[in-house]
Amino acid sequence: MILIETSGRFERKTMTENNQPLHHITPSGKHRNWRKHRLQSIALGAAYKRLGVGFQKKSERVFNCTRRIDFAKPEEGQLGQTVINRYGCKDRLCPGCQSTRSRKNFMELMGLYQHYKNSYPADRAAMLTLTMPNVSIATMKEDISALLTGFRKLTRRKPFEQAVRAWFRALEVSYNQETGLYHPHIHALLLFPPHYFDKQHNFYLNHQQWLKLWQQVMRRPDIKHLDIRMLKAHPLSNPEQGKELAMGKAIAEIAKYATKPADIFIPNGGGYTVDEQVIFALAYTLKHRRLIAFSKVFREFRRELTPSTKESEIDELDVYVWLEQPDVQTVDYFLHEFCT
Ligand SMILES: [Zn+2]
Repeated sequence: MILIETSGRFERKTMTENNQPLHHITPSGKHRNWRKHRLQSIALGAAYKRLGVGFQKKSERVFNCTRRIDFAKPEEGQLGQTVINRYGCKDRLCPGCQSTRSRKNFMELMGLYQHYKNSYPADRAAMLTLTMPNVSIATMKEDISALLTGFRKLTRRKPFEQAVRAWFRALEVSYNQETGLYHPHIHALLLFPPHYFDKQHNFYLNHQQWLKLWQQVMRRPDIKHLDIRMLKAHPLSNPEQGKELAMGKAIAEIAKYATKPADIFIPNGGGYTVDEQVIFALAYTLKHRRLIAFSKVFREFRRELTPSTKESEIDELDVYVWLEQPDVQTVDYFLHEFCT
């Protein structure tokens, strides 16, 4: 049962004890686990609160993330209701807001790549993953700086400049609960002009040469791993569709979270907990960091192209559906329906 009370321009829908859970469905038909995101933001808010002074505002913002969602009036025959505003906290570590941001990034990067492909149809793409040995909290801020500086240096090296026409990159930090160590790394999409593969020019770099370059710019001969792979269509798929699919997967990798919620949020009796020291480490080290960066070609395309895709514009394409089964969780959110 849903009670509806009218308040100002909105009808407030509050839930009774037999409340129904919300399901959040994106235009591509994917279910976003809204309830899980909400529970994780409660855990994150609690962690910020435990961190004390200096984190109180963050804590409040995150606690209230998506507590209120404004819906448009349901249309005849429409499945669910579209969102007007979801009041996200926009915190970098909030899984719900990260998920929204990663969809926004994905749409933007796909748009940029399509534009690139029209300008340079013969170029080929590769995914480069740059890593460094795992790090501890104590040095992580400097280590991340070193990683990003290393990448900047790499892009200025002659062999890189000769080989790569354009790139974009993302920073990701994963966390290992067992060892307590962090693993900062970079995913980059590289675009090679056809002459990169032409033997005459000698621009081609094999895996060993890529690794060597990376070791040099990082000044770390102890780096043993680097992954570079051309994006290829699955041999059984239609070549064009397969290429698009491979590209979509690679771009999703770059567009996704800076941290994986699964690494840091521990399920706990229907809800989640998160270690405040881990949150402190990630919040402190990712502060003011640019998580995604673009090479010059993409920066120019971006200026020409990207309409400011606001988060709400993406959410507007979503629908929320009330499910039949009752929700076992205590309800702590308010949903508002816009009245015309
Ligand atoms: Zn949020």
